Amino acid sequence: MPEYEPVIGMECHAELLTESKMFCKCPNQFGGDPNTRCCPVCMGLPGSLPVPNRQAVEHVIRTALALNCEINRQTRFDRKNYFYPDLPKGYQISQYDLPIGIRGWLDIEANGRTIRVHIRRVHLEEDTGKLLHSVGDESEVDFNRSGVPLMEIVTEFPPDIHSAEEARAYLVKLRSILTFLGVCDGKMEQGSLRCEPNVSVRLMGSGEFGVKTEIKNLNSFRAVYRGVEHEVERQTGLLKRGEKIIQETRGWNEVQGATYSMRFKEFEQEYRYFPEPDIPPMLITDDWLEAIRRTMPELPDTKRNRFLSQYGLSEYDAELLTETRAIAGYFEAVPGVTDDPKSVANWITGDLTRLLNAHNEEIDQYRITPQRLGEMIEMIKSGVISGKIAKTIFDEMYESGRSAGELVAQHGLTQISDEAALAAIVDGVVEAETEVVAAIQNGKLNKFGYLIGQVMKESQGRANPHEVNRLLKKRLNL
Ligand SMILES: [Zn+2]
Repeated sequence: MPEYEPVIGMECHAELLTESKMFCKCPNQFGGDPNTRCCPVCMGLPGSLPVPNRQAVEHVIRTALALNCEINRQTRFDRKNYFYPDLPKGYQISQYDLPIGIRGWLDIEANGRTIRVHIRRVHLEEDTGKLLHSVGDESEVDFNRSGVPLMEIVTEFPPDIHSAEEARAYLVKLRSILTFLGVCDGKMEQGSLRCEPNVSVRLMGSGEFGVKTEIKNLNSFRAVYRGVEHEVERQTGLLKRGEKIIQETRGWNEVQGATYSMRFKEFEQEYRYFPEPDIPPMLITDDWLEAIRRTMPELPDTKRNRFLSQYGLSEYDAELLTETRAIAGYFEAVPGVTDDPKSVANWITGDLTRLLNAHNEEIDQYRITPQRLGEMIEMIKSGVISGKIAKTIFDEMYESGRSAGELVAQHGLTQISDEAALAAIVDGVVEAETEVVAAIQNGKLNKFGYLIGQVMKESQGRANPHEVNRLLKKRLNL
């Protein structure tokens, strides 16, 4: 059977974090009652004039620099003409032949190797409104999102990405960079970062490209992975059966785990691009570019390497802790992180991540502040509570927002290290477990752990395990 190779291009849209919209003063915020954040400009009323948002332009320059792009010093906006009910002007202000950033690259790690993904362009445009199809047979339109600054990042052709795993790794890395730059919040579930992979397959080793399809509505890393994988399988199946692939846009059905046909792909020339006459061309001066360069933050790769050397973390922990700027910032904000980075890392990547996922929340919502986590770790280290007790109160700390100290006091959970108190529990267990004790004294030392477990159970997890070990050995003359 012939072998087929997937060829994957990525087109990503990121809503930019700015105070106001792209061409007007309306607030740029997610949600809100429909049509409460709009004005004549973003509703496309005749005679209204757009004024570009400087912060949005700087966000795109910053991103282009982080993606190793060349910056087009003379750039401008163009009109992309098409009709759709969510686009009141009948055109979208975008960029066509002079995007802000061109010819960049991004290194990603996938399947144990590094792949350089070339970037074709990074440009600035405006988002459209949103159609709501929930009212019976009718549709309504909300213009709150209309005119929100949107950045588009497109990978180079021919594509460097050849598997679903690589497509996901690209998106993970891109999202991480955008959040570190502070240009996008990266919330895929809210649509602030959207990705439309285009997928084709070709005979392995062939220099020609197959017919491609574009997948829409992928709102998680998992959906990107599964969507691309499904599309590769579908196309390979069609070719093996001698059938044709149709160039089209396909949707993703999360429940069925399958793509479906949405509509035929529009061709580029149908948009009739021309320079936006209401906005003069922009000149990106040396001084402006230099000022932006000087304020570039530490990017994920640099931060990960610093976490490895400065805190001695494992590759795995360093990778997880630098996934977003919020996670990295949280880690470094925990007091005492320098004394015990490993435990801080473990609590964040373990229990805290588990709870955040279960509640579908972000780390910067601070249900447990870095301060509170630091205090709890300090209580374990100073022997006030055991690690086991900490595990049992952690969920309650998360739910209630209360400190470990308060919960430990309320539930009477302080660790028992007092020798007399522990000796009494040890005596009780030794007297109750005569058979086990006899076995141990006949050399079956592997039963010793069982006795420790019984003491811990009797003390409801509050006994200091080191002391229990010492006292039990003393009691049994071991
Ligand atoms: Zn407006």
